[in-house]
Amino acid sequence: MSTLPDPALGAAVKAADRAHVFHSWSAQGLIDPLAVAGAEGSYFWDFEGNRYLDFSSQLVNTNIGHQHPRVVAAIQEQAARLCTFAPGFAVEPRSEAARLIAGRTPGDLNRIFFTNGGAEAVENAVRMARLHTGRPKVLSAYRSYHGATAAAIHLTGDPRRWPNDSGAAGVVHFWAPFLYRSPFHAETEEQECERALRHLEDTVVFEGPATVAAIVLETVPGTAGIMVPPDGYLAGVREICDRYGIVFVLDEVMAGFGRTGRWFAADHWGVVPDLMTFAKGVNSGYVPLGGVAISDEIAATFEKRPYPGGLTYSGHPLACASAVATITTMAEEGIVENAARIGADVLGPGLRELAERHPAVGEVRGLGVFWALELVRDRTTREPLVPYNAAGEDNAPMAALAAACRAAGLWPFVNMNRIHVVPPCTVTDSEAKDGLALLDEALTVADRHTA
Ligand code: PMP
Repeated sequence: MSTLPDPALGAAVKAADRAHVFHSWSAQGLIDPLAVAGAEGSYFWDFEGNRYLDFSSQLVNTNIGHQHPRVVAAIQEQAARLCTFAPGFAVEPRSEAARLIAGRTPGDLNRIFFTNGGAEAVENAVRMARLHTGRPKVLSAYRSYHGATAAAIHLTGDPRRWPNDSGAAGVVHFWAPFLYRSPFHAETEEQECERALRHLEDTVVFEGPATVAAIVLETVPGTAGIMVPPDGYLAGVREICDRYGIVFVLDEVMAGFGRTGRWFAADHWGVVPDLMTFAKGVNSGYVPLGGVAISDEIAATFEKRPYPGGLTYSGHPLACASAVATITTMAEEGIVENAARIGADVLGPGLRELAERHPAVGEVRGLGVFWALELVRDRTTREPLVPYNAAGEDNAPMAALAAACRAAGLWPFVNMNRIHVVPPCTVTDSEAKDGLALLDEALTVADRHTA
């Protein structure tokens, strides 16, 4: 891809996009996608010669940064050897990726079912839980995202579900802990944790435990706001699942593979689910890949009985080769440790300092390279900077803030009334500091809307 400015090529790319590409989650006539010329490490650039510091990691997936040479080489080498082979065969990159992933996942999650991404991983986790328990229902949290396919979108607990909800998927939603906007009117983390667990257990009891196959949770909810759960919550959910014979599914599609400064977010609390979904960071999205890590007990259900699910590209050799290279490189180059250190030493303190200076910042939360700034009109009332699920004029303050970031050369992930600071796990100290300085400047745009 080009590194020199080439506005004519950019215009051609854009024109073909506008004529023929149908974009996700968008009103096709109201969007103006940036034409991207190339990317490397923590940066990408357009055809006009503008460079952006990628504080989004795209959709929070390029954990190893853009165009890591070891991953690119592994894909090229695998392409020369064997591009594709059906999932019914044992092939080297697939078995090696499964071995490496099973070696990193907690507890006895020893078997890996591969998918092409996160939503399919969630679909299959739900299917496994239903078949394993013989029960129909699944519980998932409000303020969550689990993907855009049938079961996954029904589990999703935010407005992306609303237009897609058939109302018939056997999903019941509950509230997970979120002290800043506590559904339980709690004042401390301990209260929030205790009340959230009581609420969840009540939900199970009143739904009828014998009808509940699974509880599905993002370990740290991502697109819904990066709410780090209070200590004790996930262990408490584990206990509820054990008490009622419910399968505990942790969705680590976004939080997994280094994002939180540990290989998996569950490692922060030593919790072992029965099924764990992953995607994104497993190979930084260089080739689509996701999957479900399966406990020995659930795998045993399908030892003599066939598993009734599969995908043509399950464990695609190019995707798996890039996963092997990504995981090996992350381990050898200390990339997970880098994410933890950058979070503890640079991003965490730096973002808290921004919060002190900018009245629009209501709360800073996160860990590793997984941070959210929650923006408000008024710190006392916590009124969000824009209304929940705002669009058009109502969303103007957030649109202006996003535009100010981008004009300054910073590309964070922006959702509702939040800026997510989610750079690659490879981000350097100086890049992180540069990004904070650019954000500091852009936040003045949000401050203008405060009380
Ligand atoms: N689960 C979580 C927690 C996610 O963040 C996402 C994607 N943002 C998904 C599932 C769906 O993954 P995909 O888009 O790869 O289908």
